[in-house]
Amino acid sequence: MVGSENFLPTLDFAKQLDKNDSLARFREEFYINPNSIYMDGNSLGLLSKRAERTLLNTLQDWKDYGIDGWTKGEQPWFFLSEKLAKMMAPLVGASAEEVIASGSTTINLHQLVATFYSPKGSQTKILADELNFPSDIYALKSQLHNHGLDPDVHLIRVKSQDGRLIEENDIIEAMTEEVAMIILPTVLYRSGQILDIRRLTDEAHKRNILIGFDACHSIGAIPHSFTDWDVDFAYWCNYKYLNGGPGAVGGLYVNRKHFGRSPGLAGWFGSSKDKQFDLEHTFTPADTAAAYQIGTPHVLSLAPLIGSLEIFAEAGIENIRQKSLHINQYLMDLIKHELVDMDFVIGNPSENIRRGGHVSLEHSEAARICKSLKENGIIPDFRAPNIIRLAPVALYSTYEEVWKVVQTLKVIMKEKQFEKFANEREVVA
Ligand SMILES: *Cc1c(COP(=O)(O)O)cnc(C)c1O
Repeated sequence: MVGSENFLPTLDFAKQLDKNDSLARFREEFYINPNSIYMDGNSLGLLSKRAERTLLNTLQDWKDYGIDGWTKGEQPWFFLSEKLAKMMAPLVGASAEEVIASGSTTINLHQLVATFYSPKGSQTKILADELNFPSDIYALKSQLHNHGLDPDVHLIRVKSQDGRLIEENDIIEAMTEEVAMIILPTVLYRSGQILDIRRLTDEAHKRNILIGFDACHSIGAIPHSFTDWDVDFAYWCNYKYLNGGPGAVGGLYVNRKHFGRSPGLAGWFGSSKDKQFDLEHTFTPADTAAAYQIGTPHVLSLAPLIGSLEIFAEAGIENIRQKSLHINQYLMDLIKHELVDMDFVIGNPSENIRRGGHVSLEHSEAARICKSLKENGIIPDFRAPNIIRLAPVALYSTYEEVWKVVQTLKVIMKEKQFEKFANEREVVA
């Protein structure tokens, strides 16, 4: 018996699942290319009509008000980052004051490390993992350099036992007395593994170590309880599951127990709002997470988030997670049933509590299979050397699309369609 209870590999069954999908109505909120099937919402989410509207409204405010758009118009820009913080807070399980829309993933990581990393005596090391996204590792290494410390000595990367997953026990074992700070992803970008954030945070705190998380691959797909879990800080981008658009302004969370800590990278937009335009050379930071903003926010890259986050508030993150789990399970069931003896391996964890929002499908010919999928109108993404990431997204993907993806993969493999392509990645993979 393959797959979940009631599973059938038929198109009718897929259509039935779409009929029963309580989030199905949100699909029409998005611009969906009728000639393709989008399975890459974990890299760049699609544009919604509401996000388009709030961006256009912001342009209109610029037309109408010029400089006065900072304080007038539909959404005064001066308070926009704080407004969006309030809208993001339920997605990360924090109070609005603990969150701010600002910067980007990498910039926010720099800010948080510059703020919270203070090596003392023999407690100097930063603990990360060997599977994290390169940008996070580059940032950590450069921060160590700025402290005059050698990253080869002071950056510890927990090893993966199988190249896919990082075991929590291995992370905890690496939490030695030399570790000052831990930076980990909530969800690993390749295998989609969810780390046990609460447990890791508890263990870090028992040892007097600060811990922060990169939530790029969980924000908008999975509920978080950062405040309850007592996470020290977190940061994320808003262009993946959150559909904020290419280069959308990111977000960060700072636990309120750290409020008042001076920003490592100070700038005038971190000022207390009522002091900012006093233009004094003495910085008066906000007494919330807003203190960790740096310069003028990229308003046009904030604006789509207003509309996008309205959709998340309506759909509810718990419902989104339920559908995401279900539609990804359906994808895995179909893969197991239809792609037999074709050398595919499902590389993501199978347990619900350990898997994120995408399926990580491994194959030695992955690069050219991805090119074949694109030729067939299906947009996956490829992660070298051998991963096809497929992300059916709760707000806009259908079960019928997932069914078609697997049928197409089956034909590509049977007819060896991929053989006409080179097995190497493109510039942006
Ligand atoms: C997407 C992603 C990034 C991207 O960082 P940017 O600063 O937004 O370019 C960084 N880290 C992880 C884990 C990611 O998934």
